[in-house]
Formats: sequence, C-alpha cells, structure tokens
Amino acid sequence: MHIVFAASECVPFAKTGGLADVVGALPLELAKLGHEVTVYLPLYAVVRPHLTGQWKYAARSITIPFEYYNRFVGIVDGGKRNGVRYYFVDCPDLFDRQGLYGSGGGEYPNNWERFGLFCRAVLEATKLLGVPAVFHVHDWQASLIPVYLRTIYASDPLLGNVGTVLTIHNAGYQGWFPPQTTERLLFPWDLFTMDKVEHFDTFNFLKGGIVFSDMLTTVSRRYAEEIQTAEFGEKLDGVLRGRAANLHGILNGVDYTQWDPATDGYLAAHYTANVLTGKQECRTDLLHAFGLESIAPSTPVLGIVSRFAAQKGFDILAGITDELMRRDVAVIALGSGEPFYENFFREWAARYPGRVALQVRYDEALSHKVEAGSDIFLMPSRYEPGGLNQLYSLRYGTVPVVRATGGLDDTIDEWNAEQRTGTGFKFHGYAPQDFLAAIDRALAIFPNKQSWQRLMRNGMVKNYSWTQPARQYVEVYTEAVKRRG
Ligand code: ADP
Repeated sequence: MHIVFAASECVPFAKTGGLADVVGALPLELAKLGHEVTVYLPLYAVVRPHLTGQWKYAARSITIPFEYYNRFVGIVDGGKRNGVRYYFVDCPDLFDRQGLYGSGGGEYPNNWERFGLFCRAVLEATKLLGVPAVFHVHDWQASLIPVYLRTIYASDPLLGNVGTVLTIHNAGYQGWFPPQTTERLLFPWDLFTMDKVEHFDTFNFLKGGIVFSDMLTTVSRRYAEEIQTAEFGEKLDGVLRGRAANLHGILNGVDYTQWDPATDGYLAAHYTANVLTGKQECRTDLLHAFGLESIAPSTPVLGIVSRFAAQKGFDILAGITDELMRRDVAVIALGSGEPFYENFFREWAARYPGRVALQVRYDEALSHKVEAGSDIFLMPSRYEPGGLNQLYSLRYGTVPVVRATGGLDDTIDEWNAEQRTGTGFKFHGYAPQDFLAAIDRALAIFPNKQSWQRLMRNGMVKNYSWTQPARQYVEVYTEAVKRRG
C-alpha cells in the first residue's frame, strides 16, 4: 500500500515534541513491512542543513490559489532514507523562518496561510509525484487535507477516492482562526457551520480534520477515551463522541535505535538490564553537566525533560517545591517554552543552588543524558496524549513518577512491593499533595537496593517498539481504504 504522511514535524528534520518522533519512526517501520511511504514536510529554515548538495526539485512550481493572489511552491526531493521518500514543500516566504510555528512565544499570525498552503500543496504534489491509497495526516497543521479532499477536490478523478486517517497527537492545539479564513482559503461558506469547521465562531482546522477524515486515531487508548469527555476534549468532545466508532487509540512506539542505553551515542557509558554499572557513570556525567557534582551517591536525582507548557503539570510541582526539598533529593530539569514556567524553574533553582539545576533550551544530547543519569523521572501532566519520555525512562532504568492520564496511565504500572511487579509510581488527582505522595512512595523504596533494581529492571525489559503499533496503523489504513472503495 502507498501511504503519504503529511505533518509539520519529523525527526531528524524539524522537531518541537513527540509528533516529530512519531513521524520520524512510524514510516520506517511501515517500509519494513513492505509498504511504500512518502513523507511531506514544510521546508523550514531548520530543514535546510539536512539538504546537502544541490537541491533537486521534484516539481518546480505548483500554483496555490488564495483569495486575491497565487503562491507558487516547489517540491524539493529529499531522497529516500531507509526506504522512505521525503518531499519538502518549499515556499520561502512562509517557511524559511527560525520558529516552526512562531517566534518569541507568539504564534505567526498567518499560520492559517502557512498550513493551508502546505495541505493544498501536498494534494497537488501527489497528483504529479504519486497518488497514495491513504493520506495519513497529523494534528491540526495537516488537518485540511481531508477537508479539501471531501469538498473542493471531491470530484478530482485522481484524488476523489483516496482514504484519509487523521492522528490527533494533542487535542489542545487545534488551529483556531477568524471566520474569514473560510474564503481566504477559497472554501465555500457552507463549510463554516457547526457540523463542519465552525467552532465557537472560529475556523478550526482540527475540527475539520475530525469531521472529514475516514478514520481517526490518537496516541494511546486512554487518551482516545479521555478526549470524548468534557474534561479532556478541549471543547471537541461532542464531535469526537460523534465519531467514536472510527476513533482508535494506538500507543506510540519507541525508536530503540535512538533510545537504548546499551548503544546510545550521547552517553558517557553504556548499560543494560543485566549489567547496570554504566548508569552510575551516566549519573556522574549528568551531575557534572548541571554543576551538581557535590550531590552524594545516596541522594536520588529527580529528572525532568519537557516542553514547559501548562499541559505538563508544573503548576502542581510549584505547589510542593519547598516541601520536596525537605527530602534528600536533587532535581535536574531540561526544557523550554512558556516564560511563566521557565521563570518558575529559574526561581526554584535560584532558591536551592547546588540541589536544583536547570537548563532552559532544547538539547537532544542533554535529553538523553537526563534520561540515563537520573534515578527518578517526573511527569505530573495535567493531560498526556501519549508521552514518550516515560517510555524512554523505562528503558533507561529511570523510574517514572507520573499522573495517571492518557498514555502515562496506559504504560506505567504502580510498584507492588509484595509481588515485586510494576514499573513506577502513579497518582490520580491533580493536586500537589497527590504528586508528593507518589514521589514519597518512590523515595521510600529507593534506599532498598534490591527492590529498586527490581523496579528498574521491570521497566527496562518492557518492549514498546514500533512493530506492534505499525501493524495496528496498517489495519486502520486498510479500513480507511475500504470506506472509500
Ligand atoms: P510532547 O510531544 O507533548 O512534547 P512527548 O513526551 O510525546 O511530549 O515528546 C516529547 C519529546 O520532545 C521527547 O522526545 C523529549 O525528549 C523531547 N523534548 C522535550 N523537551 C526537550 C528539550 N528541552 N530538549 C530536548 N528534547 C526535548
């Protein structure tokens, strides 16, 4: 089967979060299963260094019409890598910028135009370069593909029968724009109704994708249930309930070629579930990288790697900072994002020098070091569609303390001291004291070397590779094709 991926992020080209990991890894796994996979991405400034030598244009000029003007995009052929073909939508006016979605904390105001153009360019490009059996589109940025297909492209002899699958990686980001976006993108006004793209008087990209895609998936079973409730649905729960029969939760996999302490090139030493000794060296290396050399070997290191966003639950962490520091712990955080949370971490680190350390930036190498060198990993997320860091933590023997939501709930089992089962510690309520109680349960086991190592190993031997999820996606693609047949 030929599957076209359309997404706004993909490792190694452009990444702000887990979406990029998924779009980087899933196509490779599908190619291994014998499918033909093509990935379309915008040609952002950060993509340029990956395109070595002279650019090869697969298409030089595709016309994308807007209300009173045209834009002309090129399709740059990124070649085949590990069996997967990459094409980049080149429109320097819109994509040749530093941020993927915005700069200095704000979104680009013309994101409707950037991603509207991207979606239409992908459709036009496939007519020249290969029409797939299925479009697999990701998040709001690619959500207009199914909308175009079932509206102004509905009678296209090449595209009319192509199936569509939308994966919602995070329903908190929907792409809301003014009603006039309808005509700016040349859609008829009858699209702007409550049962289509209209959402509280905005033009909502994600809602359009939800309404018009043949099949929907999200990145864990739990989150597939949660987004159908008012608490987690981000005001789309009604629409999602209406599509419940076509909505599946497929847990994200891990690319163990990148994330395995036995081979990870970013680490100071390697280790496995059988031979753990290298982890000590990774811990020393991490403490050095954060200037916490004086932390005693008996003191557990609590690690955080995250986008700093409200979703990630740092407000409940803020409620326990001083209480937590009465325990014998050190805290290491790597992240960036909303200034409010960056400042929260900065202030915390300033109040506890030598015990709390922070680096505010995006740093791939350092994120691997935090995973390997910490003893405990903290993810108190308010909601977490899938979550990758808890899966990395399992493999790295870094015991996760998580809130029981979305993918965190699906993948982490509470430690059971009698049966010696479980992989971490979970809490349910969204309150600082619930979080602290779960950390305390972890800290109570930590000094008991035998139990702790058992807990680490329980997680390290779990297998969350892409093999199983890739097969599940193929079933969903097959279903989408059937719906069109
Ligand atoms: P989300 O997609 O909501 O950000 P996930 O847990 O699904 O959450 O994925 C986050 C990904 O981004 C992980 O691969 C994580 O290591 C990475 N990441 C987040 N913040 C940073 C950072 N500051 N430096 C390096 N990697 C980061």
